[in-house]
Order: sequence, then C-alpha cells, then structure tokens
Amino acid sequence: MKISIMTLFPEMCETVLNESVIGRARANGKVEMECLNIRDFTTDKHNRVDFAPYGGGGGMIMQCQPIYDCYKHICERDGKKPHLIFMSPQGAVLTQQRVKELAQLDSIVLLCGHYEGVDERVLEEIVDEEISIGDYVLTGGELPALVLADAIARMQDGVLSAQENFMQESHYSGLLEHPHYTRPPEWMGREVPPVLLSGNHAEIDKWRRAQAYSRTMERRPDMMEKYSGGEIVLPRKKKD
Ligand code: SAM
Repeated sequence: MKISIMTLFPEMCETVLNESVIGRARANGKVEMECLNIRDFTTDKHNRVDFAPYGGGGGMIMQCQPIYDCYKHICERDGKKPHLIFMSPQGAVLTQQRVKELAQLDSIVLLCGHYEGVDERVLEEIVDEEISIGDYVLTGGELPALVLADAIARMQDGVLSAQENFMQESHYSGLLEHPHYTRPPEWMGREVPPVLLSGNHAEIDKWRRAQAYSRTMERRPDMMEKYSGGEIVLPRKKKD
C-alpha cells in the first residue's frame, strides 16, 4: 500500500512517519509513504501558495493551482487517478470501519489544508472523500493525515507482529479491549487479577471476553447498542 500526503509542511509529517512502528514498516518496505510539498508545484514567482479570501474575512486560503499541479503530478507519475481524501473538519468523522475499508486500497492520497482553508474549486475538481478526525478544528490537516496514515498502515500485513494483532484491539470487533497487566505481579498494593497468572488459557479467554463486554457497557454504551455479537479476537489467536 502506498500513502501519499500532499502538504505545505512535509518535514512535520516525515518526522512522525520515520519513528517507531511506522518508521520500521517504511524501512522494511511493508508500507510505502511519501510527503509531497505543495509549494514545490507553485508557478508563482514568489513561491506563494495562498492569498486572502474573496469577500473579505480573516485568514489565508490555499490556492487551486499548486494543489492541482501536485495532484496531476501524482496521476501522471502513477498512471492512474488516486483515491483522494481531503482532511477536513467538515468531513465524515473517521471510524475503525472506514479505516478497515481504506486499508484494502492499493494507494491513497491525503490532502492537508492549512490556514483558513482551501479554495473550494480545486476540492470540487479532485476530492473523492472528506474525512474529519473529530468535531474540533486544528490549524492544519497534517495531524489528521498522520492519524489516518497510522491507522491504515498498522493494518497492513507485517506491520504489527502476530502478538500485536490489531483484530483483538478496541473497535475492531465493535467492543473495547480488555485491560492489560505486566510485571510485577503486585504494584503499590494492586495485584494482577489472579486468573492471568493461572496458566489456564480457557479461563483467561473467558475473563478477557467478560472484561471486554463490561468495559464497553460501562464506558461506551452507544457501542454496545450497535454491537452485533461478532467474535472478539483474543491474543493467542492468529490473524486469518
Ligand atoms: N475554516 C475551516 C472550517 O471552519 O471548516 C477550518 C480550516 S482549519 C483551521 C485548516 C485545515 O486544517 C483544514 O483545511 C483541514 O485540512 C485541517 N483540519 C482542521 N481540523 C480538522 C479535523 N478535525 N479533521 C480533519 N482535518 C482538519
């Protein structure tokens, strides 16, 4: 899978994408990611990419030309029109279900707005889908694009180890995951639930299942209402 990010701040994205699990996955070729600088495509002699809005008001608006030329560059280079997602607080709020669907695609392009926003005409021309990461407004689309890229990348084959299977995590099956514990067995007077130290895997699975249900019921009753009873994948089970 290839994820391309169109941004005015490529270094900001690269810094994050070169770290930890995603950085390793990039280095090992499990996922391909690139950050394209929209400014590299401007034809303005002063390298401008934004102007004040028509009709007045505060803030700057990203212009059509550099965004469109950056997009055309990707289309011509790859020989196809990519699925283009505009990161926007006006888009559909991101869910694990949408992440699962997008993770099946061969490639996606994420467009990051900045400042007051982007000229509507280029959005009408190139955008397939708008995605928001929540009902609040950030200064730019870079953090939302990184959130989406991370969520998609960790679902690609070989990015997580078998023990870190994403299918057992919160939201994948429609429930929250059970709590976790590690050494030592007692910390500040708090003990690890004895069943986890018992070595009885049938009992451990039962306990984890029960915890997933009770947590979801308690913390996210809205999720429990929608839960269709799909299987909760527990840690020792491998991905199909
Ligand atoms: N004026 C716009 C509005 O009111 O809808 C908000 C512009 S925001 C300051 C600048 C850019 O940040 C947006 O174009 C978008 O790319 C990104 N952005 C901000 N909040 C976001 C969110 N919750 N989800 C996704 N992208 C967001």
